[in-house]
Amino acid sequence: MINRWDSVESVSGANLADQCAYASRLLGADVSLVLHGGGNSSIKQKDLDAYGEPIEALWVKGSGSDMATLTVDGLTPLDLNAVRRMSEAHEMSDLVMKNALRGAMLDGDAPGPSVESMVHAAIPDAAVLHTHADALLAISNTASGQASIESLYGDRAIIIPYIRSGFRAGRAVARAISESYTSDTIAIVLMDHGIFTFGETPRDAYDHMIDLVTEAERFVEQNAHATSETGRGSEVSRVAALDLATLRSAISQVAGKPFIARRHTDPLSWAFSQDPELESIAGRGPITPDHVIWTRTVPMFGRDVTAYADAYTSYYEDHKHTATVTEMLDPAPRVVFDPEFGMVTVGPSVAAADAAGDIYLQTIPVIRSAEALGGYTSRPASDFFDVEYWELEQSKLSRAFRQGEFTGEVAVVTGAASGIGRACARELLARGAAVIGLDINPAVPNTFSDAAFLGIGCDLADADATSLALDAGVTRFGGIDMLVAAAGLFPESAPIANHDPVAWRRAMSVNVDAFAALLSLVHPFLALAPRRGRVAVVGSKNVAAPGPGASAYSASKAAANQLTRVATLEWAADGIRVNSVHPDAVFDTALWTDELLAERAARYSMSVEDYKRRNLLSIEITSADVAEVVAATLGDTFSRVTGAHIPIDGGNDRVI
Ligand SMILES: [Zn+2]
Repeated sequence: MINRWDSVESVSGANLADQCAYASRLLGADVSLVLHGGGNSSIKQKDLDAYGEPIEALWVKGSGSDMATLTVDGLTPLDLNAVRRMSEAHEMSDLVMKNALRGAMLDGDAPGPSVESMVHAAIPDAAVLHTHADALLAISNTASGQASIESLYGDRAIIIPYIRSGFRAGRAVARAISESYTSDTIAIVLMDHGIFTFGETPRDAYDHMIDLVTEAERFVEQNAHATSETGRGSEVSRVAALDLATLRSAISQVAGKPFIARRHTDPLSWAFSQDPELESIAGRGPITPDHVIWTRTVPMFGRDVTAYADAYTSYYEDHKHTATVTEMLDPAPRVVFDPEFGMVTVGPSVAAADAAGDIYLQTIPVIRSAEALGGYTSRPASDFFDVEYWELEQSKLSRAFRQGEFTGEVAVVTGAASGIGRACARELLARGAAVIGLDINPAVPNTFSDAAFLGIGCDLADADATSLALDAGVTRFGGIDMLVAAAGLFPESAPIANHDPVAWRRAMSVNVDAFAALLSLVHPFLALAPRRGRVAVVGSKNVAAPGPGASAYSASKAAANQLTRVATLEWAADGIRVNSVHPDAVFDTALWTDELLAERAARYSMSVEDYKRRNLLSIEITSADVAEVVAATLGDTFSRVTGAHIPIDGGNDRVI
C-alpha cells in the first residue's frame, strides 16, 4: 500500500480540518479500504460556542457521505465532552444515540454525524481515520483471525471482538481505551469490521493507517497457501439475453417491484462462478456484516428464486423477535451466481445493483485470501440480521437511492442522441428509469453521464446490429420494460412528379422496415416486464394531415402508424400498452436549422416567431414538451389506455 500523502497538496487548506478531509480523500480513493459511504474520519480542535466561550469540538464525517470526495463542509462539529458523556450511559437505543448526537451538534445545518462518532470521541488523539481494509478483513475472517492480528500489531493496537456499530461499539471502545490505551497505542481494530488509526495530526493518523494495512497485506502474502482457482482462463459464456430477462422477471416478482439486474463478465467474478467450491465458501456469509444491506447474507446459487425467497423468509422468521424494524424486507437476492450467467447483481435501482456488484467484486479476493490463510469464516446469521434490520442501516439505504416513478425499470429509446429522442431519454432518466439509448450517431454513448444511461451507436436499419445492441442493454440492466420509438428520417422535400427511388427507399427503410424489426425484437422482453410492457411511438402530424412535397415521409409515417395499431391489437393479450404521440413542427431539433426556419417562415410571409406558433393555441412546442407527454403515456395515469393517438401540436384544424 503506497503512502500518497503530498505535503504540498495537503497544506493548501492549512488547518487540521482541511488536512483531515485531505486524508479522507486519499483513503476514499482506494476501493480496498472503503466502499460506498463506508469509513469515516475526525479531528478534535478548540472552537468557540455560541456565547464565545472556548469549547472542545469533534469535527466528524457526516453519516453516509463519501470519503473520496469529502471536504471540510462534510465534517460536522460536535461538543466533544457531550459525546464522551454518552458512553457513560448504561444503555441507549441507537435512535436515542442518533438524537443525542444531533443534540451535540455545534452547527445545526451540518450533516447528521457518523454513527461511529462515539468511537471517534473516545479516542484521546486529535486525528482519527477509519477504514474497512480488505487485508484486515481477510485475516479477521479466519479461525485464528484475532490471534493473528494481535501478534501482528502487538502493543500498537487494541483489538475488540465483533460488535455492531452504534452505541454498543462506542461504549465498548470507550471502555477498552480506559483499560488498555497507552502511549504506544496507534490503532483500534474492530474484528470483522475495520480499523481506526490515530495520532496528533491527520498526517500521523494517515501514516499509521498505511503502515498497519501494509503489514496486514504482507501477512496475507506470507501466510497464504496456494489454493486452486479452477475456472480461471475459461471463456465467459454468451447467454441469451432473454434468459437473463426471465431471471430478472422472476426476481422482480418475489421482490414485489421491478429490479435491475446486471450481468458481470469480468474474469474475477467469472472464475469465482465456475469454482466447484463456490457454494460452500460464498455460502458462509459476507466478509463483514456491514455489507449485508447491499448483498444479503448469501448469494443465490442457480436460478431457483422461489427457494431463495423461502429461505430468506425462514431466516426472517428465525430472528424477527430481535428486530427493531418489524416488517420483512423483500426476500429477493442481491447477488446471483449461475454457471451460465456468471455473477449477476440485482437491486431496486441501477445504483443498488451496481453497489452490490462493487462490493462483491471486493469480496471475492478477500474470501480467496482468507481461504488461503487456512479457511474463510464468517459471522453467525444473527449478526447479519442485527445489521440488516437495524433502523439506522435501513434509513441509510433509503437515503442513498432516489426513488422515481420508473425506478427499477428499463426503457429503450431510439434516436436518443438528439431532438425528441434525447428529450425522452432525459425525462425517463429524471423519473428513475434506466435508459438504453440507440442512435446512428456514434456519439450517443456520451449523451448523458448518468450510470443509468447506456448509449449504443447502432444503425436501426441493420436488424442484426439492433439485436446485438439490445442484448448489450439487457446484459447491463436485465430487461426491457418500455420502448420509446423516436428515431425517424425526414427526407428532403420533393414532389411526387420528381420521385427519387433512393430517397423513398431510405425513408421506408428507417421509418417502416427498421421500426417493424425493432418491434419484433423488443416484444419478448416487453412481455416479461414486471409492471407490464409499454410502448410510446413518436408519430407525426403528417399521419393525419400529410404535407405536399413530403410523400416519402408522410407515407412512411402512415405505414408505421398502421404497424403501431396492429401491435396494439396483437400485444394487448400480453398486457403491453401501445400509444402514439403525434407532434407537429418541433423546432428545437437538429432537423430545423435557422436557415430552414427562415425559409419556411418567409414562404408563409410570417416572422420566425409567428411561424413557430402557427397553431390554434398560438404556442411553441419543444421536444421537452413532447417528452413529458411520452413519459405520461408510459406511466400509471395511462395504465388503462392503449391504442391512443395523441396530437401534441398546439391544435391543428386539419387534425381535429
Ligand atoms: Zn466502519
